[in-house]
Amino acid sequence: MKAARIVKVNEPLQVQELQTPKPKASQVLIKIQSSGVCHSDVHVWEGYYEGIGGQPLKTTDRGVKYPLTPGHEIAGIVDNLGEQVEGFSKNEKVLVYPWIGEGMCPACRVGEENLCDKPRSLGIYSDGGYAQYVLVPSYKYLVKLGDDMDTDTSAPLSCAGLTAYGAVKNASLKPDDNVVIVGTGGLGLMAIQLAKAVTGANIIAMDLDDQKLEVAKKNGANNIINSKKEDAVKGVMELTDKLGADAVIDFVNASKTVETDMQFLRRRARLVLVGLFGGELRLALIAMPTRAYKIIGSYTGTLNDMVELVSLAKRDIIKPVVSNRFKLDQAGEALQMLKDGKIVGRGVINP
Ligand SMILES: [Zn+2]
Ligand SMILES: [Zn+2]
Repeated sequence: MKAARIVKVNEPLQVQELQTPKPKASQVLIKIQSSGVCHSDVHVWEGYYEGIGGQPLKTTDRGVKYPLTPGHEIAGIVDNLGEQVEGFSKNEKVLVYPWIGEGMCPACRVGEENLCDKPRSLGIYSDGGYAQYVLVPSYKYLVKLGDDMDTDTSAPLSCAGLTAYGAVKNASLKPDDNVVIVGTGGLGLMAIQLAKAVTGANIIAMDLDDQKLEVAKKNGANNIINSKKEDAVKGVMELTDKLGADAVIDFVNASKTVETDMQFLRRRARLVLVGLFGGELRLALIAMPTRAYKIIGSYTGTLNDMVELVSLAKRDIIKPVVSNRFKLDQAGEALQMLKDGKIVGRGVINP
């Protein structure tokens, strides 16, 4: 089989010919039809994230090993099954849950494999979806897609969609809450659709781009604030009877956005940090106990969340927007375009 691999960080991807894996026991071999191109693939390719003071946090320090086939948003059809697999048959259309854990840590024990101590996530810690086939360690990580669901728009559900859904869940929204959604790109937009569908909260969308804010409004935002043109803090205070936001979900998560978020939190507010922009935060520590804020880091979602999400997608409540399609040998180009901000919706590789 062919796979587009990161052989060395920051060097062009290489399309290599690899042995097609044979599934054993409960493993399943998936013939990949669609593999989403995610921003964290760019980080895995570059080999680092930005930490405090611009210091790079290396992916190899987090246990990533190269050469690696990236790609964790994988949809395709069942091609071959291990002898212990139940409930799946050849040619069934499935979405793969990539946030696989080692199975024994406290997080895995309660079904939060996405937060495992020793993660084995596909496309990050083991070979993923920029390939013709992927070996999934167990059939329990497969979720069946409806016959009328196409794999291109379904693939991004397993990371982009799941991250948005996980963040909305972590915000613990109640019907009368005001929630500010910071950053209305792909993830922010899905969070707006999901918050609208599954909570009764009043949604305030915040971005620097008027066009994106208009789209946010069409997709369920009750109010919009352009934080480039107006005072974001004043804007939120006016929309919330001077109380502040009950929850903020920040899909940018840069020093500047989070510093602003901190200024419009209501007492007891939840600040959910999702974006991977990075940076640092200066915090008035006294405000933490006196105002009882909760700062929550949100990373993807559980397998159970993905089952729910696929069910919501079946009913067209959420639909990722696919804007660019690539062949396998264009994988490097896809990453470069994403890095340069040239992909508006989601890019998908069709191997
Ligand atoms: Zn991702
Ligand atoms: Zn674990």
